Amino acid sequence: MIAIYPGSFDPITLGHIDIIERGARLFEKVIVAVLSNPSKRPLFTVEKRIEQITACTQHIANVEVDSFIGLTVDYAQLHNAGVLLRGLRVLSDFEKELQMAHTNKTLNWEIETVFLATNKEYSFLSSSVVKEIAQFGGAIKHLVSNNVAQDIYYKYKNKQDE
Ligand code: ADP
Repeated sequence: MIAIYPGSFDPITLGHIDIIERGARLFEKVIVAVLSNPSKRPLFTVEKRIEQITACTQHIANVEVDSFIGLTVDYAQLHNAGVLLRGLRVLSDFEKELQMAHTNKTLNWEIETVFLATNKEYSFLSSSVVKEIAQFGGAIKHLVSNNVAQDIYYKYKNKQDE
């Protein structure tokens, strides 16, 4: 069974990587699919996010990285994927994720959403938390991979220089 792990990944964190590693043990292949959503005003371009995710997941053989626009279920069907993989951290995630899973089920009943509980070390971790800390010069090396930390520092340094 092929699984799609859709998300913004702006940028990818250690929490995301943990879900990808565990998903790759459960499924034949995991396609990490970056949702291209221009209304979100992301910090990194889709191309940059793909580059970051590829670098962070090169140690996992059955992972592919891609991007998509449109409905996740349509993307999943196009790639013969039967599962949408999502992570759950806190109760507020559950509400939003359950609504999304039910909505997707009405769009394509053949595709199941599978949730993995966050690793407890990363239950507080989100891309926004990383950006907030970095913006004020705080340490993020324990939250993202080295390549991503470099990209973020560079981005905020440039922003401050502008
Ligand atoms: P989206 O905008 O689709 O929520 P994100 O990149 O924020 O995109 O998250 C993608 C998926 O990864 C979501 O299912 C989210 O709950 C999950 N996720 C994000 N951070 C973590 C974490 N620290 N631990 C486990 N799952 C996470």
